[in-house]
Amino acid sequence: MATENDNENGVSPQRSKGGARRWYGAARGLAIAFPIVFLLPGFAFSYLPLGAAVVSALIGWMVPGRPHTVKNAWRTVGESFVWLAAALHLALVALWLHLATGLFGFLIDKNFRSAVKDADRIVIRDGGGLCHSKPDKEPSLFEITNKAEIAAFNDMFKFSGRTMSCKCCGYPGIDWWRDGQCVVVSALHHGHALRISGIGGDLRFTIESRRRVQEWLETHCGLTPGDNSPRYRRCMMARARIESEALDLAKTNDSKKPTMDDLREEFKKNGKEFPACPAGGEYSLTYGEDGRPEIKCTAPRHD
Ligand SMILES: [Zn+2]
Ligand SMILES: [Zn+2]
Repeated sequence: MATENDNENGVSPQRSKGGARRWYGAARGLAIAFPIVFLLPGFAFSYLPLGAAVVSALIGWMVPGRPHTVKNAWRTVGESFVWLAAALHLALVALWLHLATGLFGFLIDKNFRSAVKDADRIVIRDGGGLCHSKPDKEPSLFEITNKAEIAAFNDMFKFSGRTMSCKCCGYPGIDWWRDGQCVVVSALHHGHALRISGIGGDLRFTIESRRRVQEWLETHCGLTPGDNSPRYRRCMMARARIESEALDLAKTNDSKKPTMDDLREEFKKNGKEFPACPAGGEYSLTYGEDGRPEIKCTAPRHD
């Protein structure tokens, strides 16, 4: 019988050997199950690889390895491989958990939370991020001023680390305001990262967070993952197309100023769809003093 004292001094061969066999058994379980990680859709279901690892280690623990009383070179090499495969398995599971849930992203999370914590208004803006964004001029897609909703909105944001910065401005803009002042400007980048004033680098969403933010933007702002340019800019381009068509038509029509109906007819004749405001604004046609056509849009801030 091994006493506690024996164990502490490491002179209980019976017990430590049994324990070692169990650990080896667990490692062997992990090693055998290692290929499973590559079969599981780990990025979508982050807890699946973790569950598989725990189960395989437990089974291995309960079915301990053979007592290797006689060591030989092959056995030693084989055991080393088992430990290596088990370690790789655990490392992959940890990486998955990190990417999916932000296991190691808590510092970035803390920075983000302290940056936005006192905001009393959040604006989802029809514009880009830190490069030439105009938080007080660009149209807003949605605004939150309710305290509980602000907290719930902020809660959706969880990060697993930083990612490479792309060259674009991002879309949509997401701004946090306090006492009528815009305190934090940010923009979503390709659905998977947030570039935010005051915190360096692009913050990578956890998979869960990315899904929740995407869903929220879709239900509240009608934004789909493919929406990556401001609506007001697309509106400006649409109006420019109609205006240039009006100029062309006036030229071919002895300088007679075409009406909106003439233009609609002309687009139809050319087999082109008449441009519409992506924000649902109505278009009207006026002519300036110099006779130039100008299309106006009724959507707020679409001028
Ligand atoms: Zn980008
Ligand atoms: Zn418009």
